[in-house]
Amino acid sequence: MTKPVALIAGGGIAGTVAALALDRAGWAPQVFEARAHDADERGAFLTVAVNGVSALRALGLDPAVVLAAGFPTPSLTMTNGAGRDLGVLSLGGPMTTTIRRVGLYSALRSAVVARGIPISYGKGLRDFTEEPGGVSVRFADGSGADGELLVGADGIRSRTRSVLDPTGPAPTYLGLLNAGGFTDRPVGSTEPGMVHMAFGRKAFFGWTSAPDGTVWWFANPPRKEPVRPGDFTPSSWRAHLIELFADDAFPAAGIIRATPEVLGPWNTDDLRRVPVWRSRRVVLIGDAAHAVAPSSGQGASMAFEDGATLGLCLPAGSDVAAGLSDYEQRRRSRVEKVVAVGRRNGSGKTAGPVGAAIRDAMFPLVMKMLYRKGDPQAWIYDHRVA
Ligand SMILES: Cc1cc2nc3c(=O)[nH]c(=O)nc-3n(C[C@H](O)[C@H](O)[C@H](O)COP(=O)(O)OP(=O)(O)OC[C@H]3O[C@@H](n4cnc5c(N)ncnc54)[C@H](O)[C@@H]3O)c2cc1C
Repeated sequence: MTKPVALIAGGGIAGTVAALALDRAGWAPQVFEARAHDADERGAFLTVAVNGVSALRALGLDPAVVLAAGFPTPSLTMTNGAGRDLGVLSLGGPMTTTIRRVGLYSALRSAVVARGIPISYGKGLRDFTEEPGGVSVRFADGSGADGELLVGADGIRSRTRSVLDPTGPAPTYLGLLNAGGFTDRPVGSTEPGMVHMAFGRKAFFGWTSAPDGTVWWFANPPRKEPVRPGDFTPSSWRAHLIELFADDAFPAAGIIRATPEVLGPWNTDDLRRVPVWRSRRVVLIGDAAHAVAPSSGQGASMAFEDGATLGLCLPAGSDVAAGLSDYEQRRRSRVEKVVAVGRRNGSGKTAGPVGAAIRDAMFPLVMKMLYRKGDPQAWIYDHRVA
């Protein structure tokens, strides 16, 4: 029997995981990625949380293989600008993994190719039309494809989303920029598995040491207006970051100086509520449906969960519209709560001097209260797709 075709726009995290899940569910997925095959995939790193790891397992994937380029980071320590320890928190368990974005993308794409699922590069979705029996997609290069399902996994600025609902919301800028990088040598003392985060006097900084001793870091400078191309050159961006952390007791400035290439700036955006996630044969997943701020540490894990859940809801041959409705019911309230957590975590990073003084004084107390009945984020980490 011929398998129904699932067209997937976007070969990032959500798109590749959905392809693997739909393949298991009896579909013939085809992935269409806007970027070229050899596109520059440099970029910073991200943390895959235990709930994301468990979603990989639910798909029959071995996390040790998919996350092989990463290393475990189960704990987090917080300090303030003066270097005072504010507390140590759990990041959900020993499987929490920090990995370069490029390492994760290429492992997921290899898993897709190993299952015989085609990925076509240079195929940016431009438009689609839906008929009762199927959906036809047009790409920016003028070519097209037909299938029984279209999965919009084309990221935070999803074109699928704007065709599905032209009146839908755009991402919101959250008042923080992002920078990141990798040092070419060890800097400061290292503790394997520990992520350090610091509320600097002027900006937020996070860092961890990889097994080879290099330091992986990110920074979140506050800025009222989103950054535009040309606002910084590589050297003015580096100088700006060093200046922001010059008076802090933690080793940010030294880490930035030891970084051959400082990445960014990127704006921090999220997408709180996208009212329309689906039609009868089209569905949005991952950042296209619900971009969570990086401060939640959950964007990739939510994309894993989305993809795995979609496969569960859509066994090939079943009623597609009913399966998509089931999918939305299982996912919407959870991801919207996680988006809210990301916003809340990020808002503490922009506190002014008075807010920072209150935060530093209250932080240990608040943490003690929040953690008195266990990890307040357990509802995020303990989620299991099946
Ligand atoms: C600075 C930063 C730090 C982050 N840190 C973390 C973290 O620590 N932990 C975490 O879990 N998450 C983190 N995230 C979030 C995480 O990266 C995203 O949530 C995740 O990448 C979402 O996956 P996705 O597949 O939906 O989107 P993406 O990974 O963005 O993939 C979308 C893909 O679609 C392609 N595409 C775009 N338009 C089209 C089109 N029209 N047609 C076809 N293809 C298209 C893109 O080229 C891309 O390959 C961070 C994000 C940022 C910006």
